[in-house]
Amino acid sequence: MSFSIAIIGSGPSGFYLAELLNRKLPEPSIDIIERLPTPFGLVRAGVAPDHMGTKNTSRQFEKTLANENIRFQGNLEVGKDIQYEELKAIYDLVIIATGAYQDKTLGLKGDHCDGIYGSAQFTGWYNGHPDHADLSPAIGSSVAIIGNGNVALDIARMLAKSPDELAEADIPVPVREKLRQSHNQLKEIWIIGRRGPAEASFTPYELEELGQLNHATPIVQDQIPEHPDQSIDPREARSKQKNLEILQSFADNVSDKKAVRLNFLFNYSPLQLFSEDGQLQSMELSPGGPATDEQTTRTLPVQTIITAIGYESQAIKGVPFDPDKKIILNSDGKVEQGVYTSGWCKRGPNGVIPANKADAMAVVKQILQDIGDQPKGCGTGPAGLDELIQNRNLRVVRKSDWDRLNRAETERAGAGQSREKFTSVDEMLTYLDSTG
Ligand code: NAP
Repeated sequence: MSFSIAIIGSGPSGFYLAELLNRKLPEPSIDIIERLPTPFGLVRAGVAPDHMGTKNTSRQFEKTLANENIRFQGNLEVGKDIQYEELKAIYDLVIIATGAYQDKTLGLKGDHCDGIYGSAQFTGWYNGHPDHADLSPAIGSSVAIIGNGNVALDIARMLAKSPDELAEADIPVPVREKLRQSHNQLKEIWIIGRRGPAEASFTPYELEELGQLNHATPIVQDQIPEHPDQSIDPREARSKQKNLEILQSFADNVSDKKAVRLNFLFNYSPLQLFSEDGQLQSMELSPGGPATDEQTTRTLPVQTIITAIGYESQAIKGVPFDPDKKIILNSDGKVEQGVYTSGWCKRGPNGVIPANKADAMAVVKQILQDIGDQPKGCGTGPAGLDELIQNRNLRVVRKSDWDRLNRAETERAGAGQSREKFTSVDEMLTYLDSTG
């Protein structure tokens, strides 16, 4: 009997786990269970649509999915269609890799007006994620992005790029049209950090990209220190030093050369928002850095705010969850007997995609130690899942269905583009049922 494994979540973490377990265990049966009908999580619907190299990571995951003993079970939500306790009874091993896809919120006075979006919503919208495809955000002439991470830079770049610069990006047609309209009126983008330039968490490659845009100029008015603080983690020192050099090079930019000004504003935190007839008009910021006499509150006229301040994982019914850290409760990846977790839902929303491979390796090592040399299959495994799906009459999207969706998206892509995504679950299922 082969060893059966359910991996919940089909993002990078889920695929790295599947790939590793398939190599390390003798002929395991692996089911990758996913809430959406499509695989690849953030690679499909979170990575910036103009970073095609990163998006192509999915090719590697397609190879993993091509293994006979690895199945994709899409459109199947744990906690709704199937329960965690049921999975534990069916499989020898359950691994949770559901990531972190809820926006953290600022909880500011006045934040219920139109024009305020979280980065999960906003990046989900421009990536055609079914949860956010209908967002249609109100993008004004002045947009503030809160946060100094790579997500903030991704959003700034997507807004600042002209339609020509986005020609090959993986963006659904309605989003493309909306971005084209907003680009015509966009004048200011503010990237606002609550700490200083040396503490920003973005990485040099992403920062440098902002200096290469055709129609936008990055502007820095703050004093940029020559070096990061001595107390900095040595593993981060090079990247932080490079950030400072790039920001210093932006300080020489002239603000009126291009249509859009990309203003970096450090050491300020949002304090309150002002709206008129339910539409955001401005934001008051409080100085957050080292107190100086000149620093007082500052008000920016902005019609749109996008918070890029990190994500939270969502609890799954029955799965131990840490409500403070908003991660699955675990000890080095172990949740309870036979259950493990990996990726952002295990450690929090940090690190680039390959960091999840390192995480998966550590968790797999732990699993192999726990199960010993001769793993024995006890659960009913894939057959048990099939039976349950059939009894409940669930419309699960399998690998062959995904292959058809993938092919259809590729075939309907516009000139120069890689795909035109289906952006609603209904649309996907209708396509599958009408062409199957
Ligand atoms: P992040 O790197 O953790 O950045 C979050 C930012 O939000 C930080 O500047 C943080 O400031 C700020 N923040 C948090 N709470 C705040 C609050 N209440 N008020 C004001 N600011 C607040 O997270 P991320 O940008 O969401 O990215 C997540 C991970 O994905 C990161 O590891 C990132 O590198 C990775 N990623 C990589 C790429 C790429 O490689 N191209 C693209 C996108 C994302 P403090 O530092 O002061 O806490």
